[in-house]
Amino acid sequence: KKYVYLFKEGSKDMRALLGGKGANLAEMTRIGLPVPQGMTITTEACNDFFDQGNQLPEGLLDEVWKNLTTVEEQTGKKFGDAKNPLLVSVRSGAAISMPGMMDTVLNLGLNDETVKGFAALTNDERFALDCYRRFIQMYANVVMGIDGYKFDQIIERIKSDQGVEVDYELNPDHLRQLIEQYKALVKKEAGQDFPQEPSEQLVLAISAVFESWGNPRAIVYRQINRIPDDIGTAVNIQSMVYGNMGNTSGTGVAFTRNPATGARELYGEYLINAQGEDVVAGIRTPHHISELEKELPEAFKQFTDTCSLLENHYKDMQDIEFTIENGSLFILQTRNAKRTTQAAVRSAVEMVKEGLITRDEAVARIDAYQLDQLLHPSIDPKADLDVMTKGLPASPGAAAGSIVFTADEAEAKGKAGEKVILVRNETTPDDIHGMVMSQGVLTSRGGMTSHAAVVARGMGTPCVCGCEGIKVDLDKKVIQVGDLTLAEGDIITIDGSTGNVIKGEVPVIPPVISDYFQQILDWCAEIADEGGMNVHANADTPADARKALEFGARGIGLCRTEHMFMQVDRLPYVQEMILAENADQRRAPLEHLLKFQQEDFVGILDAMAGHPTTIRLLDPPLHEFLPNMENLMLEINDMKHTGADAKVIAEKEDLLRKVRGLHEANPMLGHRGCRLGITYPDVYRMQARAILNATAELIKQGKDIHVEIEIPLVIDPKEVAILRAEIDDVAKEVSAEMGMEIPYKVGAMLELPRACLGCDALTEHCDFFTFGTNDLTQTTLGFSRDDAEGKFLPIYIEQKILKENPFAVLDKHVAELVALAVQKGRSVKPDISFGICGEHGGDPASVAKCHEAGLTFVSCSPYRVPIAIVAAAQAQI
Ligand code: PEP
Ligand code: MG
Repeated sequence: KKYVYLFKEGSKDMRALLGGKGANLAEMTRIGLPVPQGMTITTEACNDFFDQGNQLPEGLLDEVWKNLTTVEEQTGKKFGDAKNPLLVSVRSGAAISMPGMMDTVLNLGLNDETVKGFAALTNDERFALDCYRRFIQMYANVVMGIDGYKFDQIIERIKSDQGVEVDYELNPDHLRQLIEQYKALVKKEAGQDFPQEPSEQLVLAISAVFESWGNPRAIVYRQINRIPDDIGTAVNIQSMVYGNMGNTSGTGVAFTRNPATGARELYGEYLINAQGEDVVAGIRTPHHISELEKELPEAFKQFTDTCSLLENHYKDMQDIEFTIENGSLFILQTRNAKRTTQAAVRSAVEMVKEGLITRDEAVARIDAYQLDQLLHPSIDPKADLDVMTKGLPASPGAAAGSIVFTADEAEAKGKAGEKVILVRNETTPDDIHGMVMSQGVLTSRGGMTSHAAVVARGMGTPCVCGCEGIKVDLDKKVIQVGDLTLAEGDIITIDGSTGNVIKGEVPVIPPVISDYFQQILDWCAEIADEGGMNVHANADTPADARKALEFGARGIGLCRTEHMFMQVDRLPYVQEMILAENADQRRAPLEHLLKFQQEDFVGILDAMAGHPTTIRLLDPPLHEFLPNMENLMLEINDMKHTGADAKVIAEKEDLLRKVRGLHEANPMLGHRGCRLGITYPDVYRMQARAILNATAELIKQGKDIHVEIEIPLVIDPKEVAILRAEIDDVAKEVSAEMGMEIPYKVGAMLELPRACLGCDALTEHCDFFTFGTNDLTQTTLGFSRDDAEGKFLPIYIEQKILKENPFAVLDKHVAELVALAVQKGRSVKPDISFGICGEHGGDPASVAKCHEAGLTFVSCSPYRVPIAIVAAAQAQI
């Protein structure tokens, strides 16, 4: 086994063996860049080290010494030589970057003798001694396990004794004193002298860096980032170069493009006569990289040429560390640069235009999850935040406003132009009018698919939900956050991207779809056209429908008609309809609702002309439209106490009786979905008529309407057969009245396991399907979508029983049901369309699973359409 590679022996393709840093150092050496030479010990050696009970594998050190001779030749220095010492850094470097998680030792090779030679060589005694004391501390900490703060105490004491404020003011005498005290500390703590023999230093440092793969911080980091535990780290032993050897030396960091905006300009900082740490530590203010041209023109030219070369070579934005030692440029590291989402989008687009990468590479490179940041107002990253507490990041974006506690207040103040945040324990359909007028919504209960979350995402309104750190006291109109009490009218800011609830107003920056982002979306559309899976939107209003189209949706995958029932002007009729004791009594309110619904559908279908539009018949349990039972009881009690009119009380009591009659112990599994259509066929007939009337009206105006009527929560083909017959019957009536053929489709939602398993039989009666994965997740896992996230789900995720929130990312077994249903349906009708319209339709990881299952489209709220478009294209590349 070969355990050690000189930089000149490796390449970028050897990342698994040499780690990211080692592979890039090798690659840069290979293409002729000036890299301080050295060697990389492989990740295989690390794994063998652990397998053999933390022993360096046999033969490893022989290879190290042999290669060290080559490095000595390459640098003209000698390891451990008193006059011309070679000093090295020993650094970790795994295949997947784990920044700052493992250990590093710099300036290795210094001892009481070599430090003198080093001082003579650098012509700077103070600097040499400073390197030595840093080395003792770092080595003692990493290799010998002595706490760093004990060294800090010593240096602080010497500084105060000498009356100096900052480290670099210590003169050589102070430093000598410091070094003696450091060595004494090592002796006391470790029971042995600080090792003076460079080869011993090196051997122990290699073991220590390997061991740091197993330190708790690294283990946790791997868990969070799903990095396997068994890939190990490489160790890089590299000759040190110094940027602090006078005015022709310097050090810096630069990006090949602006990592904040993506603009194609060199972006970075440097310091003359300094070491890397000085740039980071902020002791001296670094200069903009462009000024290097004046100070060291030759090195600058060489550096800019190197930047272009590296970017062309890696075909991506690079983040490069460099040092200039006596006028000679050295590249210490290059890696793909971390960048903002804006910068990622802009640089990807420009690199395609420059011919550096292909369209597909550019699309594949975008992090779809991060795109969220570009679609909502966001908190100014420069702002200072006073975070009070945290809830679930339910609907992204930042919003600031004064606290209001009821939807009516939100509506009144919102209409008056005031910015408000609606704060509630949870929202109900009654609150929509207030949510619309709020900047943001904050709830103390409920999960990512709670009413507040779904509706807020649909509206693109920022929302933090399930924020259990907040106690809402509606009587006193205050919220309690820990010791803090905030009253109605107090200003707060919520960040729906992080879940943070912040005191006061923080500055936000508004969203725009930049030309660059649009270009990415256009390319994604091309890819979708080539590959087949489209993106639709969940939209209930013409405004949402237009927004969805603007963002690139190709249709509406779900229009929830109940949201129309909840508007204030309709609710009385809805309630009258529900409370009716028979079909006769229902007729009058249904007539009113027909008019309202028809108007709604004309608006939506008109906005969506030319695109398929799926309208779902009524779904939620009816009592959701009625007053709350407890409130009603309290109200009646109050009325009795205050001696209200007996007739009014009797009416209220009658209402209470009916509400009680509709009450269900388990409404999510109760009288809802198509069960309503089966028991109240006239309600579904009214909706079908409103849809078909609207369609006929628009077709008469010459519009191209593709309407699809959808039946929710089915379990059996007989349900669909019965309801389809009703719809077809209404269609016949409308056709006869309007004197025209009306094109329409009828399909069903697959949101219960029984429907997925029996999809082949359902297919006989259906023209299309969509998966309602909110309910399908709820019923497959048996987790209440309204309660799970606020109660036990976080613990399930913490204990790794589940990897992710199944209401946000499609669970693997729910995905299996989806795939099975598609397969069964297509065995009957090979071309039948399947979409998904649960919350998962806007989640990139779930979108990929949908593509795998062969879905025709994914549908999500308008503001997530661009994300889904990118995710869908990525799944198809
Ligand atoms: C679903 O269940 O996934 C769905 C889209 O319907 P709703 O969320 O309205 O129940
Ligand atoms: Mg549903």
